[in-house]
Amino acid sequence: MSSENSIIILGSGPAGYTAALYTARANLNPLLIDGGVGMGQGMQGQGGQLTITTEVENFPGFPEGIMGPELMTRMREQVARFGVRFVEDMATKVDLSERPFKVWVNDDLYTTRALIIATGASARWLGLDEEKPVWEGGLGGAGVSACATCDGAMPVFRNKELIVVGGGDTAAEEALYLTYYASRVYIVHRRDQLRASMVMQQRVVNHPKITVLWNKVIQKIHDPEKKQVTGVTLKDTVTGELSEKEIAGVFMAIGHKPNSELFSGQIDMDEVGYIRTHHDVRTTKLGVYACGDVQDSEYRQAISAAGSGCMAAIQAERFLAAEDAGVHAEW
Ligand code: NDP
Repeated sequence: MSSENSIIILGSGPAGYTAALYTARANLNPLLIDGGVGMGQGMQGQGGQLTITTEVENFPGFPEGIMGPELMTRMREQVARFGVRFVEDMATKVDLSERPFKVWVNDDLYTTRALIIATGASARWLGLDEEKPVWEGGLGGAGVSACATCDGAMPVFRNKELIVVGGGDTAAEEALYLTYYASRVYIVHRRDQLRASMVMQQRVVNHPKITVLWNKVIQKIHDPEKKQVTGVTLKDTVTGELSEKEIAGVFMAIGHKPNSELFSGQIDMDEVGYIRTHHDVRTTKLGVYACGDVQDSEYRQAISAAGSGCMAAIQAERFLAAEDAGVHAEW
């Protein structure tokens, strides 16, 4: 199968859906390749990272808050109303060497004059056997989460002792956030020095509710059978000594991985794999735009992703209109 398009959007988080909404309303008849369903832990498909979180309280327009999966369902319904065409699968290969660009979904080839990349990022996990069953038992509410700002305010964590794993700015920020709710927050870090910026290090180390557990890694999370975190086994990375700690939640903050492998070698990326953009959402390839978490290591919020999806759509629309008018198009 083969189809020709003016615009293809890859990804269906807030950035992808917003780009779809704007390009559909601009009569560009976008095709949205949405990542498919049931990708499993750490590899969110349709709806993106918000489908694996619980209540979202910082997306404007929902004074009572809204569940992450419901927010994404509503965004999908909104874009469907404007006739966006969906491919419910993952793009498997792209060729950006010439226009029209080529996108494959398995054996099906789609060509497009402009491409918006909104493939998001995935939280890194420790890779422990217990992460998956505990997590699947009740999303972040079961006690294993990769987003303290998403899940930390849940009643199950109130006045409880919690762990944040990692030593970077995210770990510091998440630990500080969790102090609003927890009785104590332990930062479990594998070395004796934090990677976080000095100002964040100082805030963490001086905070009365935060204790850094240096040179420690989590060896085991209890208790997958109960589908609820009840504690952890820690291992000292220097002495090898094991210890147990009763806690109600483990928040991973060991970094994110942008979902950009598909474009490797075809557009400019930083050393981690975040797509480099210029003038907000323009990549180094004329006609290719990137928005949301695949190009944003700093803000990583649903609302900022949605905003950049809007920018990508408007830039793509201008680019195509200029080309149709025979005007030299920049980006
Ligand atoms: P980082 O990559 O900076 O830090 C990841 C942390 O996780 C490191 O301390 C690392 O340990 C640890 N880690 C990684 N893998 C494992 C593992 N398998 N087991 C145990 N620990 C592990 O990621 P962040 O998400 O913290 O930050 C990403 C970028 O975003 C940074 O540039 C950061 O500055 C920025 N940021 C800025 C913020 C701000 O300015 N307010 C807020 C949040 C992020 P080790 O140190 O030993 O490598």
